[in-house]
Amino acid sequence: MTQSHAEVNSVPLLDVSRSNTPLREEILEALAAVYDSGRFLHGPEVSALEQHVSELCNVQHAVGCASGSDALLLALMANGIGPGDEVILPSFTFFATASCVSRVGAKIVFADIDPATYNISPAAIESLITPRTRAVIPVHLFGQSAKMDEISKIAGRHDIQVIEDAAQAIGAAYHGRPVGSWGQIGCISFYPTKNLGGFGDGGMLTTQSETVADKLRLFAAHGMQPRYHHREIGINSRLDTFQAAALLVKIQHLAKYTADRQANAARYFELFAEHGLSEPRDGGAVQLPYQDPAAFHVWNQFSLRVSEGRRDDLRKYLTDRKIGSEIYYPIPLHQQACFRELGYTAGSLPQTEQAAREILHLPIYPELTEAEQVLVVETIAKYYREAYQRSAA
Ligand SMILES: *Cc1c(COP(=O)(O)O)cnc(C)c1O
Repeated sequence: MTQSHAEVNSVPLLDVSRSNTPLREEILEALAAVYDSGRFLHGPEVSALEQHVSELCNVQHAVGCASGSDALLLALMANGIGPGDEVILPSFTFFATASCVSRVGAKIVFADIDPATYNISPAAIESLITPRTRAVIPVHLFGQSAKMDEISKIAGRHDIQVIEDAAQAIGAAYHGRPVGSWGQIGCISFYPTKNLGGFGDGGMLTTQSETVADKLRLFAAHGMQPRYHHREIGINSRLDTFQAAALLVKIQHLAKYTADRQANAARYFELFAEHGLSEPRDGGAVQLPYQDPAAFHVWNQFSLRVSEGRRDDLRKYLTDRKIGSEIYYPIPLHQQACFRELGYTAGSLPQTEQAAREILHLPIYPELTEAEQVLVVETIAKYYREAYQRSAA
């Protein structure tokens, strides 16, 4: 520990510099090599990173693209999903999981979540399948895999494609099998706050199928093959060589980052228990995240459930004491203005709506110190002591 307990008086929600600074020289050298090579697109670092990610996810092919959002869009385009088709996905996720469906002209069908994991409910998926359903997009929310065994079975029975939104979950697995290798296509993001964070935007697609990989590459390159012959109306979406070069340095450390996130999560469990704050589901003050025993959780986020309408009050208390927190996500997608036409109302997806009212996220990045975690949990304990005193008075 570099910081003693007494020195810590604030905790940032996230500090990307803590992982980037120790690699500064190595990354700048890698960027300089790209600079000198002049190969700003299609450089060898891009295929090297694709190779690395395909091994990590245990798939045959990985295809770089410009962002996680583009990865999702390309996955739908490569399947020819469009008007008249339906795609099932959770409403409790980041916007990009849904916008890609509207963007290709297909219909979004929102499924409710399992309240324990916040991931899409397999039973809900099955109940929403119609003859028009072409695909389901499970999201491995906060770094924990959705129930991929059940989802794969349901999809197989109904002959629909599974497109995994693994934006928050690189390195995660379910029953020992990596995310990104369960579905037809996996979508990864290198947005700076993700577990493998780049220096801007970047994304990658994973697949076992050579045919699918070829299609993804075609759609990501204007549908052009050969040069100036356009077979499809594709888009321009590439992972540039600078991003790939920097990510190649960072991916060597991903296993360590993941282990550190897991250690931080375990420490939160201990600290909350020490403060008597963690009797989940029997009137405990806060509910700690549920860990699916089949999941290798990579902890992109650490979420609390704070009931009794105290969530926003607790958050303000933390903010006033310089402790970072965040709400992912305060407004479910089915209640967003841009999706009003889909006809969902308050109460349409009760578990999703309740989670959006109760969830609160704490700092969990790999370099978070023990002293910082102690301060976070002590401050939450103090909040509850004061709240109980107020209600007793
Ligand atoms: C971050 C994220 C995306 C989008 O990734 P970008 O690289 O930011 O475009 C998609 N889905 C989920 C669940 C995400 O968290």
